[in-house]
Amino acid sequence: MSKRIKAIRGMNDILPQDSAVWQYLESTVRALLNQYSYGEIRMPIVEYTDLFKRSIGEVTDIVEKEMYTFLDRNDESLTLRPEGTAGCVRAGEENGLLYNQVQRLWYMGPMFRYEKPQKGRYRQFHQIGVETFGMNGPDIDAELIIMTARLWKALGIADQVSLQLNSLGSNEARAQFRDALVAFLNDHFDELDEDSKRRMDSNPLRVLDSKDEGTQAVLKHAPSLHDYLDDESREHFEQLKTALDAAGVPYQINPNLVRGLDYYCKTVFEWVTTALGAQGTVCAGGRYDGLVQQLGGKPTPAVGFAMGIERLVLLLEATGVVQHINNTPDVYLMSEDPIQGLLLAEKVRNQLPDLRVQCHCGGGKFKKQIKKADDSGARFALVLGESEITNRQVAIKFLREQREQVVIPQDQLQTFFAENLISQE
Ligand code: ATP
Ligand code: MG
Repeated sequence: MSKRIKAIRGMNDILPQDSAVWQYLESTVRALLNQYSYGEIRMPIVEYTDLFKRSIGEVTDIVEKEMYTFLDRNDESLTLRPEGTAGCVRAGEENGLLYNQVQRLWYMGPMFRYEKPQKGRYRQFHQIGVETFGMNGPDIDAELIIMTARLWKALGIADQVSLQLNSLGSNEARAQFRDALVAFLNDHFDELDEDSKRRMDSNPLRVLDSKDEGTQAVLKHAPSLHDYLDDESREHFEQLKTALDAAGVPYQINPNLVRGLDYYCKTVFEWVTTALGAQGTVCAGGRYDGLVQQLGGKPTPAVGFAMGIERLVLLLEATGVVQHINNTPDVYLMSEDPIQGLLLAEKVRNQLPDLRVQCHCGGGKFKKQIKKADDSGARFALVLGESEITNRQVAIKFLREQREQVVIPQDQLQTFFAENLISQE
């Protein structure tokens, strides 16, 4: 026998018993984005490698070591998208959506990063991303955050997540801070962890979110980014905080929140949970006013965020919010004559579009079919024996109740379900 081919490490199948939770999450998000009048954009999964190098930054974890990059048959370097913002900006520019316009966009789909797979961290994972363009003020930053707060409520996980907030200031302010930080880190070089030593030259801001305890102890005395904020960024940040206070969205200021990508400025935020261990960030975003220009467009203010679907699904499961969501049929239908069975199932679906009706296919003895009906988890079995077919009747078995089977005319099924579904739910 030949060897079985397995899925690639870190790339998961999402099976029917799990996809119900995904669908619940996705449809809740869709409805929410619709309420805020955001439009869906769908981009390709593959882009030219340069797009990511130029937007995310050469000296970032993603570009340095996480991208799936390959040459196509034309010898062009392509990359499976590690995130959605770069492609969204590319698509917006290319299709004339950004110049002199206001846009509120969202997308959903797989992203790819070569990381060490573990709970909440995969090589193919899924994000729901939201990007807005053409709006300068802190009000849109606030709208995005208020919108996510509403989502957590809608999903029933509001008490599981908390908001961390920071401002990175303008590019100039950050450059000044970077110099001060590097000078400070140089004085404490021997006390830093290896990663931080390496990043000090290439991307010193990333040292701030080092997980190393020794490095964190050193950083307690480091210069603070907030002392370097330019007036405009400071004012922007104050107004954002005022808006969140007014809307009743609590937050924590985290001066060490810097985010992994190069393109952020001013506002950055993360929604974090303690319920998932180390992979605690479920949603992250910020302002990236320089990115559109960096990719060849006109200067365009922009702010957005992305949430990790797998982590949200884990959170929904961990908190038991989703126990009631499942794929089981309401009705399992079996028939002596398969065609009569299919036709009756069609009729029931016409009359009761919300009912989940599963038809027994593949024949076999009735006794076995009843067992299948029971295994399916359905509440009702509809049975068409010979006499029911002749008399245009149907037998109904109650699979989850101690109740005698009943036989009713087929044209009374609608009334039957109207009464029995309501009385049960
Ligand atoms: P982390 O610090 O956890 O690596 P990140 O800063 O790299 O996250 P972003 O690029 O901001 O993550 O992506 C936004 C969100 O996408 C994250 O907050 C997380 O929920 C999710 N995410 C990122 N990488 C992965 C991954 N490898 N597997 C699953 N979810 C992920
Ligand atoms: Mg990462």
